[in-house]
Amino acid sequence: MAKQEDIFKNVVSHAKEYGFIFPSSEVYDGLSAVYDYAQNGVELKKNIREYWWKSMVQMNENIVGLDAAILMHPTTWKASGHVDAFNDPLIDNKDSKKRYRADVLVEEYAEKINQKAQKEIEKARARFGDAFNEEEFVTTNARVVEYLSKRKEILARLAKGMTDDLQDVKALIEELEIADPETGSKNWTDVKQFNLMFGTKLGASAESAMDLYLRPETAQGIFVNFLNVQKSGRMKVPFGIAQTGKAFRNEIVARQFIFRMREFEQMEMQFFVRPGEEMKWYHHWKETRLNWHLSLGLGKENYRFHDHEKLAHYANAAADIEFNFPFGFKELEGIHSRTDFDLKAHEQYSGRKLQYFDPELNENYVPYVVETSVGLDRMFLAVFATSLQEETLEDGSTRTVLKLPSVLAPTKAAILPLVKKDGLPDIARKIIEDLKWDFTVAYDEKDAVGRRYRRQDALGTPFCITVDHQTIEDETVTIRHRDTMKQDRVKISELKDIIENEVSTKNWLMKM
Ligand code: ATP
Repeated sequence: MAKQEDIFKNVVSHAKEYGFIFPSSEVYDGLSAVYDYAQNGVELKKNIREYWWKSMVQMNENIVGLDAAILMHPTTWKASGHVDAFNDPLIDNKDSKKRYRADVLVEEYAEKINQKAQKEIEKARARFGDAFNEEEFVTTNARVVEYLSKRKEILARLAKGMTDDLQDVKALIEELEIADPETGSKNWTDVKQFNLMFGTKLGASAESAMDLYLRPETAQGIFVNFLNVQKSGRMKVPFGIAQTGKAFRNEIVARQFIFRMREFEQMEMQFFVRPGEEMKWYHHWKETRLNWHLSLGLGKENYRFHDHEKLAHYANAAADIEFNFPFGFKELEGIHSRTDFDLKAHEQYSGRKLQYFDPELNENYVPYVVETSVGLDRMFLAVFATSLQEETLEDGSTRTVLKLPSVLAPTKAAILPLVKKDGLPDIARKIIEDLKWDFTVAYDEKDAVGRRYRRQDALGTPFCITVDHQTIEDETVTIRHRDTMKQDRVKISELKDIIENEVSTKNWLMKM
């Protein structure tokens, strides 16, 4: 556990030290769960967004983009259910005055029990070796059976309490003797519902100001524009609308860096289908989205599906793609079959028809919707944390290297004159002038070349191109590969193709 925490701390400090992520308004000691993307972070984030956009919009004839405003008519949130149901159960500790999500306290307790069971399973696996039959073991070993059934019972009681009566959730916390994780106190308040939307006001005069919300998800901007896009784009069902943009949630507890923020960015796509065909598309998008993640090469073992048993009010099927973050498997993306809930609700609240005339069926209907929704910041954290590695080299020294998928790397190549004289900087500048039209490149002449390599390794730059005295004679340079540290001598005229081949979106997306 300590190790996991260390890895995570290292991720946060590397992000700051190398200009990826800073706490917001740090000169005033920061603002809780709000972060700023710095010079390298903004490039990585933009590249992730583009990688998503290209795979969704550019590669699919029947998916188009949208950029709806953050502020929307307030009735939107009444129709979507956010005013009445976008709540988390909150509990305060009376002694420490710390605030928690009651459901998370219980889930963490259940997870600890699960960990105990997993430990027993691993012990047995080590003892029995190849002869170990896990399926049999978990159903016959008394201790494991007890742990797993206890966990199941707790989660079932939590789910029931969450829908029926929050007092039962409090009773469960007391019965399990769950203590404040920071202070150990068991002196709890009642569990209350807490709405996560940020309110704001539109208009200058106090009397006429209108109460608005900062959108808690980008999806509703898509739903209210469904017919505008369908008509103006002459779209035929099935078709999709994709959007990336900021969303805001007043999260009760937000302390996992950019994993859970109060202002964050989503990348969402709503796919409109014929009623009755939603399951086919739901499975299609589940698989397609997982393949998109896998194309980045962060390791298949780091992803898993979590199919929801308890569904939100708008869904008839839902799954998360979970990622193995430094603090364990957690939701990275949600895929939801949202039925016709949203469009019907907007029809009802607006009094306007939001229907599609299907020329093949010769009938009008409200389409069903399959949604894919991934957090851009969570994607950033997944990519960044997994790529950050400490390597021990053959000579026993260590290097810190950010093995980002090169298609996402903030800087694609650094051009380094070996020395600051003999005309080498001029040649380096000329190479930059040529490459910068196609790639983000950097110039670095400070310090010994070995140190410059290390600096670029820590920034995730896939290539270092070194200009030396031989360059003057034969127009060749050395190109060093970040991951293998291998160096090749190549012609300056070949550089563009070499870099393009490695970083092109096409070559990466073709792995899907
Ligand atoms: P969680 O259960 O972790 O709170 P959620 O189920 O509420 O997430 P959705 O409403 O499905 O999340 O939002 C879609 C995606 O938006 C999530 O998969 C996640 O990647 C991202 N996301 C949601 N809330 C946050 C947040 N507070 N900070 C950063 N990303 C978020």
